[in-house]
Order: sequence, then structure tokens, then C-alpha cells
Amino acid sequence: MKLILLGAPGAGKGTQAEVICDTFHIPSISTGNIIREAVKNGTEMGSMAKEYIEAGKLVPDEIIIRIIKERLSAEDCKNGFILDGVPRTVAQAEALDALGVEIDRVLNIEVKDDVIMKRLSGRRVCGACGASYHVQFKPSAKPEICDRCGGQLIVRKDDEPATVRERLAVYHEQTEPLVDYYTAKGKLVTVEGQENVEDTSRLILAALEGRG
Ligand code: AMP
Repeated sequence: MKLILLGAPGAGKGTQAEVICDTFHIPSISTGNIIREAVKNGTEMGSMAKEYIEAGKLVPDEIIIRIIKERLSAEDCKNGFILDGVPRTVAQAEALDALGVEIDRVLNIEVKDDVIMKRLSGRRVCGACGASYHVQFKPSAKPEICDRCGGQLIVRKDDEPATVRERLAVYHEQTEPLVDYYTAKGKLVTVEGQENVEDTSRLILAALEGRG
């Protein structure tokens, strides 16, 4: 199964990718996590991407296309994968097509901007493995500690309100056109993101099993 998760920042892509990944045993690939790891490790790609991430802008397509090409050629992607946060521009979607990647379904998680603004202020991510939590909607068992790996939970720098506003503007301008792109290919399924994580997961799993 080859899936794309589409949606605004904070729509719940990362959280739902974890659920799909556990259900279908396919890897979840987040270009955001790959880039944050590169920034943390101070690699050449990381230092090129850092200023874009911190400003809430998109990292240039050629960097993203290089990352995704390399990641999709790994052995664990043979039986399928979930793309979380990529493609984010029509150029990236066209690059995937050019690589011969046959996407089965594109899940579009829809959440209103004002809800996103509220959600992102409570988001926490694991500084070690990238798993995501929310102080109200998806708390970790122990405060500030990751359930998966025991790492420290942190607030992402780009979750500050001014940066979130910029990321939403970028989403509407550069990523939302992908809704039409994949609708035209007959691949798009839209799910309304619910307040509760489990309710959204139920809608997504039903859609993937053809009951949505
Ligand atoms: P995310 O964790 O998916 O919200 O990504 C965080 C940041 O990483 C974004 O705001 C962008 O700066 C960068 N990024 C991640 N994925 C992409 C992508 N596919 N295209 C461009 N920039 C990206």
C-alpha cells in the first residue's frame, strides 16, 4: 500500500501516520523528521534547510526530491509506505510520478485554520524519535517523556504562533493545489479531522478499507 497523507500543518498527519504504520506494517516517511534530524546532526543538507524550517517556509524542491528518492529506494519500502508531509508542492508530486511511484490513495485530512492554531500550541514532539503528542488530546503516559522511546518531549520551534500563521499561508498557497492534482487522478479521499485522535483514525481506516 502506497499512501500520501495530505493536510495542513497540525492536521494530525504524523499522529495518523503512526496509526496506519502500526496497522499495515509499512514505514512512515516524514520529510519533516528527516530534515529535523539532519539539522540536529549538522549535516550539509541540515544546514541548508535550517533557515527555511525556522521561518515556516518550504525547503526547496530539489532538496526534498533528493531526500525522497534516496529514502524510497530503501529495502523497507518494497511493500509500501506512507508519505507524511510530502509531496507539498505540485513539482514534488510530478517528481514522484516521474520516479514511477504508483500511489494508491491520497488521504486528505481537513481541519480549519482556527482549530490548527489552537492545536499546535499544545503539540509536543519527542526530541529523540519524532513521535508526536498533545498535552490535551494525546498526552504521554508520563509528563514530557515519550511513550515509545523514553526520550524528552519538546515544543517545536516552528510551532510558535507567528511561524504557524506563515506555515498555514504556505500550505494554502503551495500545498492545497495538490487536492485538485490528486482528485483529477481519482486518488483523493477527504477525511474531516476530528478533535479526538481515535475518531480520526476510525474514519481513515474505514476509508482505506473502502468503507469511507
Ligand atoms: P513537518 O514536520 O512535515 O511539518 O515539516 C516541517 C518543516 O520541514 C516544513 O515547515 C518545511 O520547512 C520542511 N519540510 C518538510 N517536508 C517538506 C516538503 N515536502 N517540502 C518542503 N519543505 C518541507
